Amino acid sequence: MVPQVIIQFPRRKFSIVQAGIVLDDKLTDVFRQQLLQLQQDVSALKASAASAAEIVALDQTSVGRLSRMDALQGQAMSLEQGRRRERELQKIAAALRRIEAGDYGDCLACDEPIAIERLTLDPAATLCIRCASAREDQR
Ligand SMILES: [Zn+2]
Repeated sequence: MVPQVIIQFPRRKFSIVQAGIVLDDKLTDVFRQQLLQLQQDVSALKASAASAAEIVALDQTSVGRLSRMDALQGQAMSLEQGRRRERELQKIAAALRRIEAGDYGDCLACDEPIAIERLTLDPAATLCIRCASAREDQR
């Protein structure tokens, strides 16, 4: 029997591929689909969060001082969340550009291929596990 790894995308249907698989055109296309889906999801989240922040802003005139502070705090949090989503969208867009350029799946630091298992967890990953953990250590 051929050993298999299950590629499971968060919250999504998974595909089963053989272990030791290389990133060929077909698999790259699977990642492209995942990235496009992710891009849609994050954009939708960002859009709905933006309108929620507007509602908070409108409510501020009608609520008391304490709840106003709550509202401001909530607003700061959603702003931070919005920035995080913006960064995620940029990462996704960059990954899609790398697919178009044909160098998707290569580590940006050492040029070695990023493990497929790592890409399934984060299709927008830019570093191989070794370079990523080396950067973690530097902090
Ligand atoms: Zn690397």
